[in-house]
Amino acid sequence: EVKRDPKVQVARLKLPILGEEQRIMELVNENEFLIVAGETGSGKTTQLPQFLYEAGYAEHKMIAVTEPRRVATVAMAARVGHELALSSKEVSYLMRFEGNVTKDTKIKFMTDGVLLKEIQSDFLLSKYSVVIIDEAHERSVYTDILLGLLSRIVPLRRKRGNPLRLIIMSATLRIEDFTENTRLFKEPPPVIKIDSRQYPVTIHFNKHTYSDYLKEAFRKTVKIHTRLPEGGILIFVTGQQEVKYLVRKLKASFPYRKDVDYSKLITKTKPINEADAALDSEPDDIDSDDDEVEKEMKRAKKARRKAKQKIKTLPKINLDDYDMPDDDGQADLVDNDDESEGHLSDSDAEEDTLTPTIKSCRQPLWVLPLYSMLSSSKQAKVFAPPPVGARLCVVSTDVAETSLTIPAIKYVVDSGKKKMRVYDHVTGASAWRIVWTSQASAGQRAGRAGRVGAGHAYRLYSSAVFQHDCPPHHPPDLCRRPVDDLVLAMKCMGIDKVVNFPFPTAPDRMQLRLAEKRLETLGILEKPEVKKKKVDDDDMLKVTPLGKAVSAFPLLPRYGKMLALSHQQNLLSYTIALVSALTVPEVMSGKPDSWPATGHTLLLGDPGVLLRAVGAAEYAYVKGEEELFCAKYGIREKAIKEIRKLRKQLTSEINLSVAGVDVTIDPEMKPPNDNQARLLRQLVLSGLGDQVGRKIGLDEVKEGEDKRKFKYAYHCGELEEPVHLHSESILRKTIPEWVVYQELYETGAEERRKMVMRNVTAIEPEWLPVYVPQ
Ligand code: ADP
Ligand code: MG
Repeated sequence: EVKRDPKVQVARLKLPILGEEQRIMELVNENEFLIVAGETGSGKTTQLPQFLYEAGYAEHKMIAVTEPRRVATVAMAARVGHELALSSKEVSYLMRFEGNVTKDTKIKFMTDGVLLKEIQSDFLLSKYSVVIIDEAHERSVYTDILLGLLSRIVPLRRKRGNPLRLIIMSATLRIEDFTENTRLFKEPPPVIKIDSRQYPVTIHFNKHTYSDYLKEAFRKTVKIHTRLPEGGILIFVTGQQEVKYLVRKLKASFPYRKDVDYSKLITKTKPINEADAALDSEPDDIDSDDDEVEKEMKRAKKARRKAKQKIKTLPKINLDDYDMPDDDGQADLVDNDDESEGHLSDSDAEEDTLTPTIKSCRQPLWVLPLYSMLSSSKQAKVFAPPPVGARLCVVSTDVAETSLTIPAIKYVVDSGKKKMRVYDHVTGASAWRIVWTSQASAGQRAGRAGRVGAGHAYRLYSSAVFQHDCPPHHPPDLCRRPVDDLVLAMKCMGIDKVVNFPFPTAPDRMQLRLAEKRLETLGILEKPEVKKKKVDDDDMLKVTPLGKAVSAFPLLPRYGKMLALSHQQNLLSYTIALVSALTVPEVMSGKPDSWPATGHTLLLGDPGVLLRAVGAAEYAYVKGEEELFCAKYGIREKAIKEIRKLRKQLTSEINLSVAGVDVTIDPEMKPPNDNQARLLRQLVLSGLGDQVGRKIGLDEVKEGEDKRKFKYAYHCGELEEPVHLHSESILRKTIPEWVVYQELYETGAEERRKMVMRNVTAIEPEWLPVYVPQ
């Protein structure tokens, strides 16, 4: 039935998983649950859907494959379609904002968030015969919840005589989390391990750990390229900007020119022995003491009681099929701090101390970037062989760790770092931090060098760092981030006792409670009054009608709330634009002073500036001048494009689901007038009501303290230390008494560390439902 291209067939036969097809299919046919574990590159993602397809699992229903990363969703759908010689109409993908699913789709690749959203409208997943949860070891939040839900859905489907299969695919990492968790699976599911030919990889640690790992990565790559034999190089760094920087620097050092026939120029590099492969590095003492910064602030005296929002009229919103926000790739977009990545500046790229060594080598490097947000066509380049005479060099974020297998890599250069969003569970403040990878990740990264033959992995840090600073594993995402949206989604699915949910690794109970508290404060959950008896059990919190409306939006609950309420005041089109802008990270750097604001428009603060930026950018877009406009005002073009997609999506969903509403996106959206801006300020408060700040009066500053440090300082809730207006905040012009903020984050290192409020709006104290004076 399947007519594969002979070339494809040859390549498939080399994959270790092919030898296991029969055994795998027997296990699938006989079991509802199956775990397939195998090294990256063994053929799990590309082959298993094909086995199922050929065994007839797509005849009446679809085969679902979930991926935690958008990159893999697109790439793998394309690859499997190609291998099966089927079109994208039959092997399709779906993720937020994008997809090519048709009524003829047989195999559907999707991001895990999309499948979770589908469960909300079709709990039994009746469209599917098999669900494959891929990359389960990544332990993404949605994957973890899907596993918990599917452990219950599968038996339900069996009872209805309409069985569903669940296949969990994973790199060979911590399978016990799935097999030994009896709440998840009473009987441990069968595990099939794919043995893959993995050639030995020699690990080389640096003697010293340099703080500038980009410089070190560059140095090491130059050494490999100029001294070691043929073989592709794969470099791991932490984010998009670092990737681009290294790509630029390496390309400039070993340029590839189309007009040169390199096959004649290459001087054969001598084979080297193992000792030579241990490229030396120079000593450098960069250790600095981690002195605890003494906190000098007095304790904030008051704590405001949580605001309880009263909602009078609620818009009715039909609960339809909405996508969930997808965190994937954002790590690439957001930097933890303005000051932290100074080494990425252009001037630094020019400065090049290594030029002398480079000139002696003429072989070009074929340098390719790889990160989540890269366009699919550019991503696809890494799978193609480099031009004759050039050496392949891929600079990647951790997407190349397990999601995508790049062929012909012999050398891995590992910075040992990754970008991770770190949350403060008490304050809700978050920051992107560059942290040490886990030992497990380091092993995965090194393994990339041993796919085609013996390889070498260069870790740009010492073995002491590996032993003492790299944790064996990082905790799963679900245990590291606030879970408000998940608690709401689960409650909407009828899972009242969220603490009893069969999570693969349960988040801290405290976290679940805090999320419930916040949702209660926002009026999204409430305690039902059971026969006048006060209910103390938080498990009993129910979704309010507002909460139901909110959960329909593909947004965090607080933004969903702003949208749900804006219906009443005819502010929908402003709120859609505002919420879209607030949920896309890093829209603009700096504040365009050329957009003056007064009165309520000024007090709307940074969200007001965002709103005008979005409006003006849209206008420029219509006139075909978007690029110019963005460059002129320091606006990130990609952010504007994403905001546009989100506005379109939200607008059409609202038009479809709210009766009598017909919002259009006005490309000439005028800035809100004074009255509208006042209403918008209240709306912003309705969503951010648990994040209020009050100006610290200079008379409150302790004797001996530098008063200048408190110019923009605020008290926030129960926080002891002051928080400050963002240096780019437009509200620095007026320094209002009361504010709400979108986000708290930490900036600066050591003594300069401070807490900063981002996207701040001024509010009036009388708008606060409960105001407790000192
Ligand atoms: P796993 O899921 O077990 O990590 P995959 O199924 O992703 O393995 O990969 C199997 C093989 O298919 C790898 O050798 C990989 O390089 C190759 N491959 C995947 N996608 C492509 C592509 N688009 N073009 C060429 N080869 C590919
Ligand atoms: Mg895979």
